[in-house]
Amino acid sequence: MNGYAGKLLRVNLSEGRVSKEEISESMKRDFLGGRGFAIKLLWDEVKQVDPLSEQNKIVFATGPLSGQLLPSSGKMVIASKSPLTEGYGDGNMGTMASVHLKKAGYDAVVVEGKSERPCYLLIEDESVKILEASDLWGKSSFDVQDLLEKRHGGNSGILVIGPAGENLVRISTVMSQKGRAGGRPGMGAVMGSKNLKALVIKGTGNVSNFDDSRVRELGRKGYEEIKSSGSYPFWMKQGTMQAFEWCNENGCLPAYNFREGIFEFSREMDGYVLEKLDVDRKGCPMCNMQCGHIVHDSSGQRAELDYENVGMLGPNIGIRSLPQVATLNRMADEWGLDTISLGSCIGFLMEASEKGLIEERIGWGDFEAAQRLTVAIGRDEGMGRLLSRGVKYASEKLGKGSHRWAMHVKGLEISAYNCHACPGMALSFGTSPIGASHKDAWIIAWEISTDRFSYNKEKVEKLIEFQRIRGGFFESATVCRLPWVEVGFGIHWYPEYLKAITGQSRSWEDLYQIGDRIYALLRAYWKREIPNFGRRWDWPPDRWFEESQSRGKMGGIKVDRKSYEQMLSWYYELRGWDQNGVPLRETLDRLGLAGVSKEISV
Ligand code: SF4
Repeated sequence: MNGYAGKLLRVNLSEGRVSKEEISESMKRDFLGGRGFAIKLLWDEVKQVDPLSEQNKIVFATGPLSGQLLPSSGKMVIASKSPLTEGYGDGNMGTMASVHLKKAGYDAVVVEGKSERPCYLLIEDESVKILEASDLWGKSSFDVQDLLEKRHGGNSGILVIGPAGENLVRISTVMSQKGRAGGRPGMGAVMGSKNLKALVIKGTGNVSNFDDSRVRELGRKGYEEIKSSGSYPFWMKQGTMQAFEWCNENGCLPAYNFREGIFEFSREMDGYVLEKLDVDRKGCPMCNMQCGHIVHDSSGQRAELDYENVGMLGPNIGIRSLPQVATLNRMADEWGLDTISLGSCIGFLMEASEKGLIEERIGWGDFEAAQRLTVAIGRDEGMGRLLSRGVKYASEKLGKGSHRWAMHVKGLEISAYNCHACPGMALSFGTSPIGASHKDAWIIAWEISTDRFSYNKEKVEKLIEFQRIRGGFFESATVCRLPWVEVGFGIHWYPEYLKAITGQSRSWEDLYQIGDRIYALLRAYWKREIPNFGRRWDWPPDRWFEESQSRGKMGGIKVDRKSYEQMLSWYYELRGWDQNGVPLRETLDRLGLAGVSKEISV
């Protein structure tokens, strides 16, 4: 099929062996790429292993749209069995590594085994080398990016972990280009467990498309449509930070460990304040609506801000200064820590301190303490040892009812949307296939603008539609969802791109079916890896059911547990899963996953 490089690169670090495999036509047809390739590979090859053992594997996968001349296509998916959740984990990242990987002739890389010594991979078209990285070990992700660029040239794609990944911190990510991050559920630690510090990818070829001139024409039209959108000018001013004021107005900012949904100091740090601090813009390859805002942090260094890290390292821990948030964000990026989980862990500890559950006194908004904790978590030492495995683990260690306000689902920390008064978004977090990520179904804007407080079946149907588009298609194609979400880029373009690139006509119905297949296999993976996996894994934390916010127009409102359960039952029914959230045999058979049922005994 056109549009693919057609090869998978496999690197076994235990044996120092490199091999190249054809990617089958059925794999491309049934799983598309990105997340689809990743779950198929992990399902087939990574069974009931310790995520930090050499038996685990890590997948770096592109899709047919990755790196193509079309809006925001410079993405790839990084996936593995997660050391944070013990289930399936992945994350997408916008990086030159995606563009170079396809140019080098590979749709995906699988790294398995464990190197005896620190190493990095150098992929230059056909040539693949495993190189010594002892001199890079212990260095920050920014320093290693610089060193490897100097050593191998700037015209490359580099994926790297910081010291947190080396220290097997479960909330560590993979970094690229000093600010792009991917793989929230501990993908950094998986690389660290393999003694793999980085991948440097340099490609000089091109994939062959079905109709190149049509791809160019569609690409030009796509970029023009984005630029001419009415939402484009404001997006270019504030990017994802436009959500900050909106969330505060609607009571869904995460403030004080998600206890509140509005922040009394929001005016001091919203998108309008960011506009004044903005000194540069940064983003992913192939994107003409770049959303990373560069500011000077509290120490005068350049640092990047977006809504998620501002929400979680700002109001969620009581910090009211964007430069201070920028410092914490820069530190997290250097250490290779996920900013969402970091903000959740610090917020959890501040609340534990306030409640007198720990001896240390760490007040809300204590910037010095937040910096110290970031380093301690990155090093996995002192108080950091409690937090480096995420808030689920921390609450289990701490006890005393703290699980009620440990803000995670399936072990992955909730991203920056407070759902006391957004039951559909709560269900979205509940049913996301990697734990509480907003990326699969950001239903909150639709929910608030339509029927916010209802718990009806239509809302569940809408959630599944979002998951099919976002978590199924965009994560597998692989392209950024934000052109569609934020500037109204037409969803009808994507089947046209696919036709011009692969030569195959696929309707949205066809693409939904691929999304359903991927979701069913993701679910089956959770079930196989965690035998007692079931309905309660899809519950958000008790805080949203049991405590309401104390102030603002959403004060007094909480999610109704019985109604949430009803929505969850509808969700399972609509997906063709049983009431424990496990795909039924007939659903697996219908989706062409016949062998899967045997492994999960359905
Ligand atoms: S919109 Fe933002 S996240 Fe999406 S591709 Fe562009 S820079 Fe990356």
